[in-house]
Amino acid sequence: MFMRKIIDFIIPHTCLKCKTINMDYGLCSDCFKDISFITAPNCKSCGKPFVNKTKGKYCGVCLRNKPKYILRSAVVYNDNSSPLILKFKHGDGTHIAPYMANEMTKVIQDFVDDIDLIIPVPLHKFRLLKRKYNQSAYLAKIIGKNINKPCDYTRVKRIKNTASQGNKSFSARVKNIRSAFVINNANIKNKNILIVDDVHTTGATINELSKTLLNSGAKQIYAVCFARVVSE
Ligand SMILES: [Zn+2]
Ligand SMILES: [Zn+2]
Repeated sequence: MFMRKIIDFIIPHTCLKCKTINMDYGLCSDCFKDISFITAPNCKSCGKPFVNKTKGKYCGVCLRNKPKYILRSAVVYNDNSSPLILKFKHGDGTHIAPYMANEMTKVIQDFVDDIDLIIPVPLHKFRLLKRKYNQSAYLAKIIGKNINKPCDYTRVKRIKNTASQGNKSFSARVKNIRSAFVINNANIKNKNILIVDDVHTTGATINELSKTLLNSGAKQIYAVCFARVVSE
C-alpha cells in the first residue's frame, strides 16, 4: 500500500479522457460530471433511461416490439462520451478498457448470476487485421474476470465483412448484417449468454447475433454495451 502511494506520486495517473493529472484511476472530476451514466429508472428490457419518472417497466419501443435480448449500457453515447470510445477503438487506447469494463460490470448486476457464457461481438478477420484488436474482446475479458464467468472468443465467427454501419438507416443495417454470424461450435444449448459490445446504436448487430445464438439453442440472451445512443 505504501509502495503504491510512492509509485502513484512518482508516476501519477492521468484522466483517461483529457489527460490532466488525476489522483484516481479513471476520469477526472470535470470529465466525470460530463458523462451521462445510465441509472434507474430505465427500461427493464433495453435499459433505456426514462426521462420522466414513469411507472411502467418497459419503454414504448419494447412495448411495441419486445427485443430478443435484455440490454444494459453504462453511459449515454454523446459528444462527452464519444471521445473516450473513439480513443479506445481507434487510438490504441486499450488502457481505457478496464475503466469501461468496470462500469459495464456495474450495470449487469440484475442478471449476473444467470450468465453462463460471455461472447464478444466478433470482428470479421479483415477488420481485425486492419484494427489489430477486437475492442469488444478486451471488454469481455475484463468483465469475465470481474464476474468470474467464462469468455469465448472463437465460438462465433463473423463471415460477412459488413462495411461501417455508421450512416445507414435501421432497415439498411438489418439487411446489411443479415446472416453475418455463424456458430463454430454448437455447444450453446440451454446456455444464458452475455454479448459484449462497445457501442449500441440501432441494435441491428446484437439483434442478428442474438437470433443466430437463439436459433442454435441458447436459452436467454443478455447484452452489455459501454455506451448507447438514446434517441428522442
Ligand atoms: Zn478529464
Ligand atoms: Zn426498452
